[in-house]
Amino acid sequence: MTEGKPYRVLLYYHYVMIDDPKQFAEEHLRFCKELGLKGRILVGREGLNGTVSGTTEQTQRYMDALHRDPRFKTMPFKIDEADGHVFKKMHVRPRKEIVALKLNEDIDPKQLTGKHLKPKEFYKELQRDDVLVIDARNDYETQIGHFQKAILPNIRNFRDLPKWIETHLADQKDKKVLTYCTGGIRCEKFSGYLLRAGFKDVSQLDGGIVEYGKDPQVKGKYYDGKCYVFDQRISVPVNRTDEDVVVGHCHHCGKSCDRIVNCANPECNVQFICCEACEKQHHRSCSDTCRHHPRNRYNAEVAQAAEKQTVS
Ligand SMILES: [Zn+2]
Ligand SMILES: [Zn+2]
Repeated sequence: MTEGKPYRVLLYYHYVMIDDPKQFAEEHLRFCKELGLKGRILVGREGLNGTVSGTTEQTQRYMDALHRDPRFKTMPFKIDEADGHVFKKMHVRPRKEIVALKLNEDIDPKQLTGKHLKPKEFYKELQRDDVLVIDARNDYETQIGHFQKAILPNIRNFRDLPKWIETHLADQKDKKVLTYCTGGIRCEKFSGYLLRAGFKDVSQLDGGIVEYGKDPQVKGKYYDGKCYVFDQRISVPVNRTDEDVVVGHCHHCGKSCDRIVNCANPECNVQFICCEACEKQHHRSCSDTCRHHPRNRYNAEVAQAAEKQTVS
């Protein structure tokens, strides 16, 4: 880990009753802007879910202020150091759910959730050969990294996960289940859903992959590749043992690669894995259609560069 960078990225959530999410969101946005933070925060009657970046001082003031609020007194923050902001803007949005599982009958993790395992306990359980390890994230996240033994549901959205489970794992409800996600928030609901669906023994990784990668003893062992994050960094390292490997393949040539780019067609904008050579060759596009799109950004960049050369 590099120490002493001037910025920090905070990742946090807390399931706690918030009476008026709309009003809370307005005031919270004002507060975040005053501090100079950037990021994305969701507020619901069920709680708070956020990730923000700012200088060490700004983020410290933010954490102190939240910890002074009795509702968030015990809220843990996951802290990463960074060279600068990892968001362009500051958004605070009221939402029905702070993480959308969209079940007909919602799960309240304060009432029903799986057992929380600290990284060290999760690490131990991973070594058993009679456990189901379920990755609760989306396909584009798991393609650049995941736990070695994990089942990777090929879902685009978290809300598709319950259906996937019923289709694929309905006959395994007696097995011991371990779930994990990026920072833990999705598993709070997902593990509760599994218990309600009849799974008997369900545990979740407390603090998610991010916390697992920070544990000084576990050092991210048994995790292959990187952890996808929802900010400009796109991914962060996890495994700090010497067993770190690259997970993922270039969408075009199939070469081992974990470099994610946004498709240059602004109407597509899909994130995909692409090596540097293929980025040039395919104009940072996911398909031929996107490559020839009239508003393709890569083509525009190339045309602009060519024009500059002719002018000078
Ligand atoms: Zn390639
Ligand atoms: Zn595309």
